[in-house]
Amino acid sequence: MKISKLSTYALIMSLSLSLLSGCKEEPEASLVTTDTAVTTPATETTETVPETTPAPTYSVDEYKNAGINELNSVPILMYHRIYDMKNSETSYTGGNVDKDGYNRTSEAFEADLRSYYEMGYRMMRLTDFVDGNIDVAFGYSPLILTFDDGIRDVVLQGWNDDGSPVFEPGCAIGVLEKIKAEYPDYNVTATFFLNDSLFQNGEEEDRKVIKWMVDNGYDIGNHTKNHAKLGDCDAATIENEVGYMYKKLEEIIPGQYVNIVALPYGSPESMGPEKPQFDKIFEGTYEGFSYTTKATLLCAWTRSYSPFVRDYNNKAIRRIRGYDNGGKEFDIEDNFKQLNDGRRYISDGNPDTIVFPASDNSSGDWLKNTFDHTVISY
Ligand SMILES: [Zn+2]
Repeated sequence: MKISKLSTYALIMSLSLSLLSGCKEEPEASLVTTDTAVTTPATETTETVPETTPAPTYSVDEYKNAGINELNSVPILMYHRIYDMKNSETSYTGGNVDKDGYNRTSEAFEADLRSYYEMGYRMMRLTDFVDGNIDVAFGYSPLILTFDDGIRDVVLQGWNDDGSPVFEPGCAIGVLEKIKAEYPDYNVTATFFLNDSLFQNGEEEDRKVIKWMVDNGYDIGNHTKNHAKLGDCDAATIENEVGYMYKKLEEIIPGQYVNIVALPYGSPESMGPEKPQFDKIFEGTYEGFSYTTKATLLCAWTRSYSPFVRDYNNKAIRRIRGYDNGGKEFDIEDNFKQLNDGRRYISDGNPDTIVFPASDNSSGDWLKNTFDHTVISY
């Protein structure tokens, strides 16, 4: 949870910077520019400010040289099952295991992860993204991994003497753990969206696996009880589908799952007010258990908006399908080509600030500072 610190604030910058002032109640920031360095910090606070180490400040040239831009887009990858296979063992393009590329070989998935790292992406938790808490090192770009359906993303081979699980090396967790050991600064993590069948290793085994996962840096989210197409459901059915899964996760890992729903089939694609039953995705009660949802994910094709821009919608977060289509039609290569061509979010290393070139908000209404961060345009 993001802690709001200041109702009003000013920002000290050592060089001449444009200064934008974000406002909690007013989503559209008003532009205040200054041509000289600001020397007086605001001291008015409305809540207790936690003791933190002051974040480093950077010059305009440093922002410019690193291309810092926190209004640009973020890749949220959508994978399904990772098969313990070589690419040559499938009859489809690249590392696809099926015609549409929803499932991927372990060889291709491992190569994907190495490639994202080499391009300067670093992983972060989806739940932090939704909270506007993007904590990625200066000059690097956030990357978020998601897995839908729990189709044996975790293939359990047994248990060690200390109670920890043994996974098949080529399943999703097997590959992720290998990469985690190899690249400590990659911050390996992923969110797995589950149905009632969990990871299909058997209920008792999977309950233990899920506990291990949340203790080891992974997140578990809600993909509805029966993989229901929510756009076709009435309010009571939605409450059963969504509420059942939250209640089940609460029993397995109390308070440790994420209140995010990956919409099966991406449906409904738009949460318009004309369909009020969709409110039940976000708030409801199932067998006496009350739940809330803070975000929903669409099915995949393209990069997500930054959570700091006008068109970002936490009820329709976009994802990239993790597949290979020869660099065409929004496959991984196509999406990353677009991202790397000036559209990628590049972090200033401070989760409490939003930094971007002033030209990117020249319309005055592209920035949307709902998280009450300090805003720096340059
Ligand atoms: Zn699904």
